[in-house]
Amino acid sequence: MKETEAPRVFLVGAGPGDPGLITRRGLELLRSCDAVLYDRLVDPRLLDEAPAEAERVFVGKEPGGTSMPQAAIDRLVVQHATEGKRVVRLKGGDPFVFGRGADEAQALAAAGIAFEVVPGVTSAIAVPGYAGIPLTHSGVSSSFAVLTAHASADRPGAAERWEAMARGAETLVLMMGVSALADTMDRLVEAGRNFDEPAAIIERGTTPDQRTVVGSVGTIADLARAAGIEPPAVTVVGQVVGLRDAVTWFESRPLFGARVVVTRPRDQAGELTEALRAAGASVILAPTIAIEPPDSWSDLDAALKSMQDGTYAWIVFPSANAVEKVVDRAWEVGFDARVFGQVKIAAVGPVTATALEARGLRADLVPERFTGEAVAEALGPGGGRVLLPGPVGAPTTTRDALLRSGWRVEIVGAYRTAIGSTDDLVPEVAERAFDAVAFASGSAVRGFVDLYGLLGPDARVACIGPSTAEVALELGLEVHVVAEEHTATGLVTALESAWRTKAERTSADN
Ligand code: SAH
Repeated sequence: MKETEAPRVFLVGAGPGDPGLITRRGLELLRSCDAVLYDRLVDPRLLDEAPAEAERVFVGKEPGGTSMPQAAIDRLVVQHATEGKRVVRLKGGDPFVFGRGADEAQALAAAGIAFEVVPGVTSAIAVPGYAGIPLTHSGVSSSFAVLTAHASADRPGAAERWEAMARGAETLVLMMGVSALADTMDRLVEAGRNFDEPAAIIERGTTPDQRTVVGSVGTIADLARAAGIEPPAVTVVGQVVGLRDAVTWFESRPLFGARVVVTRPRDQAGELTEALRAAGASVILAPTIAIEPPDSWSDLDAALKSMQDGTYAWIVFPSANAVEKVVDRAWEVGFDARVFGQVKIAAVGPVTATALEARGLRADLVPERFTGEAVAEALGPGGGRVLLPGPVGAPTTTRDALLRSGWRVEIVGAYRTAIGSTDDLVPEVAERAFDAVAFASGSAVRGFVDLYGLLGPDARVACIGPSTAEVALELGLEVHVVAEEHTATGLVTALESAWRTKAERTSADN
């Protein structure tokens, strides 16, 4: 290897599952690679971080199928690098903890290809952490060992090694070997661990599907089997398991275990998706509407010109979409901030106001309640002209309210909401494999019913506000909860209460 050669292959630890647990360096490399070779346990959201044109090569084990032989993976890594690409080899957890990262490093070294190793957060530590089990704790355990039952069982000296491993540390972390769990526990007892010592097995740790079963060295194998625990899972043996009751945090978040469908357009789903994930939900993104340009811009263009000339007393923005489309269009056709110089600006809610701020505009008025009536009330008795940009063909409650207060209102279409395409139906939603749906607009409800039909009896429906709920009821959906605060955060809070009630009802049934 030439000393000066820059690395072309990066052996990157992807972390244990939660895509937030990749390192900064790892993400930086992933975002600038030409090819990514990845394992089965890597979250698809991490792969999305690679440039769109980057090659994505799966080199893992198909579920229930056979693994690609390590030698073949080594060859593939070398081959991609030889083609001159910047290659990220993305491996679950840490590349050098039962990750065969060193095999690939050796192959690269042998081929004279420079590489860099980016350590990852290993599941051995992170998965117990997400289950509320610290591996060390003062007065309880001051050492831990990470081992696998798997490969060492038949090698010469296995019995001695088992003894050494079993007694070598106060806390033991066992990787792999779910099917051999009963055997492994027997060996630990033979090697001197106590039958009654606490043990826990954690399946799919750090993901919304995480499950933890707690027992003892003597009982954990049976309990895991009864619960249907499958790989990937990590087993922890030691007194530290007892700390879980006090330290649990991930599994006790309000929406943990809830699969929630988000129906907002993809580019607008971010805030809600983030808030749901922070509450522990597993988010299924299934946009049911798309925001498209109006058939013609001529009305809006003319309105912008009149606005610049001082024709309107107010422009009322009914949504963040309206803000975005109006401002983008204004800039596109050559206006600048002066187009708003003669007009007062109203936003119907904080989300809309934030969208204005993001574009350098401040609302003169944000009513306390987020309805058309509230806007009309806040504007007071009128006389002048009001420009109301919104979706083409939208309900006209705001206009009617303003008209009643004596304003002259001009509605202008700034965008169209189109129903999403049936080509993009999301399988989990079509198969009803979800627990709740979050609706942030009436048009999203219409889109949902159009695309997927009605809901099964078990799914909870949460709406961002009364007008969204009204549409849902009209279309025959049951509405379980309406957000009190009509924002993404408010919607999540509402879902939390709906989820709690459901959980309470289910436990009362049992
Ligand atoms: N290099 C990886 C380990 C690869 S071996 C790391 O550092 O984490 C694969 C084993 O890791 C699995 O059999 C399981 O024991 C463990 N594992 C990986 N991801 C896991 C997860 N999300 N939950 C539980 N165990 C996991």
